[in-house]
Amino acid sequence: MSSEKIRRVLILGGTGEASQIAGALLARTDLMIVSSLAGRVAEPRMPAGLVRVGGFGGVAGLGAYLRDERVDVVIDATHPFAARISRNAELACREFGVPLIAFRRAAWRAQLQDRWTAVADFASAALAVDREGNRVLLSIGRKELAAFSGCTKACFLVRAIERPDVPLPLFSKLILSRGPFSIEEERELLRAQAITHVVTKNSGGDATYAKIQAARELGIDVVMIERPEGDRAAFGSLDAVYQRLEELLVTERARV
Ligand code: NAP
Repeated sequence: MSSEKIRRVLILGGTGEASQIAGALLARTDLMIVSSLAGRVAEPRMPAGLVRVGGFGGVAGLGAYLRDERVDVVIDATHPFAARISRNAELACREFGVPLIAFRRAAWRAQLQDRWTAVADFASAALAVDREGNRVLLSIGRKELAAFSGCTKACFLVRAIERPDVPLPLFSKLILSRGPFSIEEERELLRAQAITHVVTKNSGGDATYAKIQAARELGIDVVMIERPEGDRAAFGSLDAVYQRLEELLVTERARV
């Protein structure tokens, strides 16, 4: 491989950080950057530069893409709850000998005034909140709402970007809106709707943290769904991702 070769980097995205990485690497003349989105929302926020949309077709499909597009490095910057694509990336990269850099933002940690109940999954969260008298803000996206479809006791305020395609809990009101929401907006919503419980994934990061802050201020219970991933190795900062990318590029250049 000649040292002038342009290296192809595939960013598995769908997060703010993935867009940040694409933006930061876009000006590099030694790299060709392609961002990949799952295509879950009709009008996604597009990262800068080249973008492909839609699933690859499992590990085999992703492997074929890496081979056909001659991808040199994969950066997995998907959401911490997008466990399947991350696992697929690990397997496909291993099989095709493509270096993988995984980024995972840090999980939120409870502060002193927080009233959190940590649960392992969506079904446990549904069990924890479905009680008469509870008024629950369900802010977990569309994908996992089915775990709450059988709830019949609590009143739910379901917030999603697009209309869910599963039955909502018996007592529910749907708000279609896209964040980020400010702390003022979240405080107002929790107060106006007399919310007693917030159900959320432990996504980490700033973009969806305002509801946690607002719940803390108002003394509202939070049911925190912990991450599905166990202790998969990943970098926790974008600087570490950029540094690892440089190391890989230097190693590859030294090989020619
Ligand atoms: P997932 O359960 O891990 O993946 C399900 C399937 O969707 C994958 O097997 C893959 O299909 C496809 N896919 C996922 N991410 C993709 C990507 N970046 N590019 C191409 N195909 C992708 O993922 P998910 O939880 O549904 O999340 C989908 C996307 O939304 C991710 O990109 C993620 O970063 C973003 N997102 C997720 C959440 C969340 O809470 N889960 C929140 C914010 C953003 P094939 O097997 O056919 O390749």
